[in-house]
Amino acid sequence: TKTIKNVICTFCGTLCDDLEVDVTDDEKKIVTVRNACAIGAEKYLHVSNPGRVVLPRMRQADGTYKDVSYDEAIDFAAKTLLKAKKPLFYGWSSTNCEAIAAGNVLAEKTGGVIDNCATVCHGSSLLAIQDTGVPSCTLGEVKNRADRVIFWGCNPAHAHPRHMSRYSIFPRGFFSAKGQKGRKIICVDCRETDTAKVADTFVRIKQSYDYEIFDALRTLLRGEDIPDEVGGVPKEKLQEVVDICKSGRFVTLFFGMGLTHTLGRNHNIDAGINFIRDLNDYTKAVLIAMRGHYNVTGAGQVLGWQYGFPFACDLSRLTMARHNPGETTSVDLLVRHEVDACVVIASDLAAHFPFEATRTMAHIPSITIDPHISMSTELSDLHIPVAIVGVEVGGCCYRMDNVPIETRKCIDAPEGVITDEELFKRISARVDEILAEN
Ligand code: SF4
Repeated sequence: TKTIKNVICTFCGTLCDDLEVDVTDDEKKIVTVRNACAIGAEKYLHVSNPGRVVLPRMRQADGTYKDVSYDEAIDFAAKTLLKAKKPLFYGWSSTNCEAIAAGNVLAEKTGGVIDNCATVCHGSSLLAIQDTGVPSCTLGEVKNRADRVIFWGCNPAHAHPRHMSRYSIFPRGFFSAKGQKGRKIICVDCRETDTAKVADTFVRIKQSYDYEIFDALRTLLRGEDIPDEVGGVPKEKLQEVVDICKSGRFVTLFFGMGLTHTLGRNHNIDAGINFIRDLNDYTKAVLIAMRGHYNVTGAGQVLGWQYGFPFACDLSRLTMARHNPGETTSVDLLVRHEVDACVVIASDLAAHFPFEATRTMAHIPSITIDPHISMSTELSDLHIPVAIVGVEVGGCCYRMDNVPIETRKCIDAPEGVITDEELFKRISARVDEILAEN
């Protein structure tokens, strides 16, 4: 075997960059993974499973699947997209930026709507950031400087297992040489998570009272009075949070879907940003969204630089991109039957969307592009397997703090299996051919 060092883990938004992967000398199989957490390691070890799909699968009239060639699959995809008035391209969070850029070209050509997983996770954060701005920093700065860390509506102990050991709680940095001993950790949540258990201060709030609590904290920060209890939290506890933050040198607020998906949504994030902004009158303070899938941040970046909006871009008018959450977002389009074909890429729509939206997907022509079998692949007319980014192909991905990181290839993809990027380029070329023929 040989060892590949400094491998980037393409599982969660932490994008850990210190994995060591032992591969066989012929670079066909992964033998061992070191340094990854349990979920990261599983991704690498799972790659060589014998049941891996290596050919596109097309649904037959009787509901069963038949293996077809990549050429047949590409032809079907091109014709399906050209026939549709408004196809939806949803997903993108678990592939590289190169594939996303190639996919955007295809969506433009076919007048589709392009949307990523932010539409059901941190879309509200992106709206608030566009409205309000964001005082932020890199995870490296958190590691080297932060002495006050707040986790709000997120549970990295489960969702980003090495986040706490690499960046936010335990590591020793240049200005944080005492590691955990020099940091005060605050966890704000409506239930006592495993992250709350390692925090110095746990603030249990009533569900959906985040906005009120940020307002109360801002009021206390200015030295004004508040009621004896806000959102289930006594005034003294909120004062304690303010005192801890004010006495720090560098405060970092990490927030997750417990904040973005409770009542108030983007307004919760507005309030959080303004709390952090106010804190900067007393000390240095920043906030970072806990992005989930490893390149959901990159999906927003690519859309942002190409169309000006980080998700839910409607390209059906061909000349301009429209972005109107509630109108051009995937769930709303599917529930209102406003799209007539669906391509799911590098994510699992059927596993995460409301039933009504999934039912629409099952009743319109649909294609799922994914290395593995998922609920979406099983509802689709066509499943196209692809190489796994960060394992079988490299490419650019954005960490949760918006730092681009070049992922690397460890082993060869199974023979014949192509990358997302190549697939989108070939479907685009086939679309051009068909248009030229007519
Ligand atoms: Fe991979 Fe995330 Fe675990 Fe790091 S924390 S090893 S990026 S799954």
